[in-house]
Amino acid sequence: MTTADFIALDEQWSTHNYHPLPVVIATAEGASVTDVEGKTYLDFLSGYSALNFGHRHPGLIAAAVEQFGRVTLTSRAFHHDQLGLFCRELAELTGTEMTLPMNSGAEAVESAVKIARKWAYRVKGVPDGTAEIVVAGSNFHGRTTTIVSFSTDETARADFGPFTPGFVTVKYGDAEALRDAITERTAAVLLEPVQGEAGVIVPPAGYFAEARRLCDEHNVLLIADEIQSGLARTGTVLALDHEGVRADVYTLGKALGGGIMPVSAVVGSKDVLGVLRPGEHGSTFGGNPVACAIGRAVVGLLKTGEFQERSRELGAHLHSRLGELVGNGLAEVRGRGLWAGIDIAPGGPTGREASTALAERGVLCKETHDHTLRIAPPLVISREELDRGIDAITEVVKTR
Ligand SMILES: *Cc1c(COP(=O)(O)O)cnc(C)c1O
Repeated sequence: MTTADFIALDEQWSTHNYHPLPVVIATAEGASVTDVEGKTYLDFLSGYSALNFGHRHPGLIAAAVEQFGRVTLTSRAFHHDQLGLFCRELAELTGTEMTLPMNSGAEAVESAVKIARKWAYRVKGVPDGTAEIVVAGSNFHGRTTTIVSFSTDETARADFGPFTPGFVTVKYGDAEALRDAITERTAAVLLEPVQGEAGVIVPPAGYFAEARRLCDEHNVLLIADEIQSGLARTGTVLALDHEGVRADVYTLGKALGGGIMPVSAVVGSKDVLGVLRPGEHGSTFGGNPVACAIGRAVVGLLKTGEFQERSRELGAHLHSRLGELVGNGLAEVRGRGLWAGIDIAPGGPTGREASTALAERGVLCKETHDHTLRIAPPLVISREELDRGIDAITEVVKTR
């Protein structure tokens, strides 16, 4: 079968909720993928940071295969020998006290919303059914009906109402707007430390410190959605570490599953996560033995610090080279560590045209919005490979 055959098959039989580039991947290793025609590409997207450790990282695959040979699923009706170890190791890595394991990122966010509401009623004393959660405009937290209820992206919301009430939206990065939105009924403020889907938006310095101060002053939980920003992507375990701020609750996902399977978690203090009692929340696959074994191996990789360091070093190089393109093909470059959002200058190609041209040159990345590309190579990428990808970007944004 040819590339065109596979694409035709997808178009006929899979729902049209994505608009993929016309590349059909068959195999992958490290920072590279190979298509069905045998052409190899550099992966500059990393599955939206689910592949921070690259494709098929040997240590992660070994952990999964080892667990496949022992036990794969027990349900939470019984204990198993990976759960407690995973929960402890992840809590220790993130400086928290408890872990709620789930599967997808959206489930972790949903879980955090439920925990924050219950905490508001049972601990803070908010009148039943009135809790509010403050969120930011241009957020991305997932695709469930409750989560799209507080999205500001019309494409993600239209035709999916009625929407879940109890969310208040403020402008991202605006501490004053946050202060004005907090009331006695506020359970939590839910924010991404860096807004990935919005185009890798880094908030102004001091924003999170002020958010933390406001949350302390008003007895409000600060929830950091680190599903895309966390686990070494920005050069630290948690992107919020750059702000010198601790959240009460973090949601993690994507890279937590090592690019192998969906693994997500909510981590936080006992005071907060401890509000959940048996029967109030759960998931058949959440915290399954394979997920926990992979998650433990991911924590093990992060404990070495090697990936954080690679992100910082390669990220500095990436940002210095992309910075040279500002005014010379690019209008703006944002980001932290090995993660960048680049706005193509007016008159240049659209994001879609640029990602198509990059694919022709053997580099895979994806547009977000009309003129923005998101650059997030696996943290295992070599400097030479990174330079090759940046060379291609340089050519493409200068064309036309
Ligand atoms: C991807 C993402 C999610 C949703 O994760 P899924 O696994 O796709 O459900 C939530 N929050 C952020 C910040 C994300 O980047």
